[in-house]
Amino acid sequence: MDLKDPKQIEKLIVLGAGPAGLSAGLYAARADLNPLIFTGTQIGGQAALTDRIENYPGFPEGVGGAELADLFQKNAERFGARIEYDTVTEVDLSLKPFLVKTYGNSFRTQTLIIATGANPNKLNIPGEDEFRGKGVSYCATCDGWFFKDKEVVVVGGGDSALEEGIFLTRYASSVKIIHRRDELRGGAILQKRAFGNPKIEFIWDSIVKEVKGSDAVEKIELENVKTGKRSELSTDGFFVFIGHKPTTDLFKSQLELDKKGYIIVDKRMRTNIHGVFAAGEVCDSLYRQVITSAGMGAAAAIETTRLLESESE
Ligand code: NAP
Repeated sequence: MDLKDPKQIEKLIVLGAGPAGLSAGLYAARADLNPLIFTGTQIGGQAALTDRIENYPGFPEGVGGAELADLFQKNAERFGARIEYDTVTEVDLSLKPFLVKTYGNSFRTQTLIIATGANPNKLNIPGEDEFRGKGVSYCATCDGWFFKDKEVVVVGGGDSALEEGIFLTRYASSVKIIHRRDELRGGAILQKRAFGNPKIEFIWDSIVKEVKGSDAVEKIELENVKTGKRSELSTDGFFVFIGHKPTTDLFKSQLELDKKGYIIVDKRMRTNIHGVFAAGEVCDSLYRQVITSAGMGAAAAIETTRLLESESE
């Protein structure tokens, strides 16, 4: 039957093709559910935008994020997962089978695994949107090489800010990491590497009030949160790594979300709607690792398989 035949009822649709979605697809394909995976805007999720992943077991020398995402995809496809490069625009979970719409097509499915991940938070300061793509960036792997021999700043004090800041030293002549406190949130290994990197300098207790420039970013306005003193700092690039927001807008009035917008799941990756599961960063504000997301994807697919088997008995 044709993939886009509206009369076809899928056993399982997976939303998202990061580590969680592709692992769910792999397990579901091996369980003969013939899963249909919608990639959204990008295959591989945030992992694919990471330069090097050093904590995914099995790769003692580390592995490129895009390379790992590609391996996940090949692994899922090898067992028959179908990957559609399309974005889901609407879901109706009050209908059974559930309705899933993309820009051009409608699908019905018995079960759904939501693995839509998360997107970078913005500072929401003047100039941030205006200079996006003209010096403002949320992805060092994507945009780092534009800043060869240039000066950049990074905002944030977590693992992402440290990891991406270290990555940027490959290209930039200097990287200033601006953090709103005087103590980092990021882990010990990354802290040690950042402190030991001669190109990295920290600006503590400071927040950015505005990004300024004419055609592209030229400088930023800083405020010291302890003294209230304002200053300007010249820079060519402005990278923001201040955490993530789960991609749950499509499900807001349909599924139970927590205060921060994450989908609430139980230990078996079940949401409050029977037949709808979630996996990965869309329901995880605690771990956010490739391995935990992949594990949740596998668990959600196992639970989906059990549910479909119990309903067909
Ligand atoms: P995060 O751990 O939530 O850290 C966000 C950082 O941004 C914090 O330092 C926070 O400051 C700062 N911040 C938040 N809002 C801000 C604002 N409006 N203005 C200025 N600063 C702001 O986020 P993350 O670094 O993206 O990491 C997310 C998760 O992924 C974490 O669990 C992390 O361990 C994991 N991760 C792991 C690795 C790795 O293992 N190699 C790499 C990347 C990410 P405060 O500290 O003051 O709150």
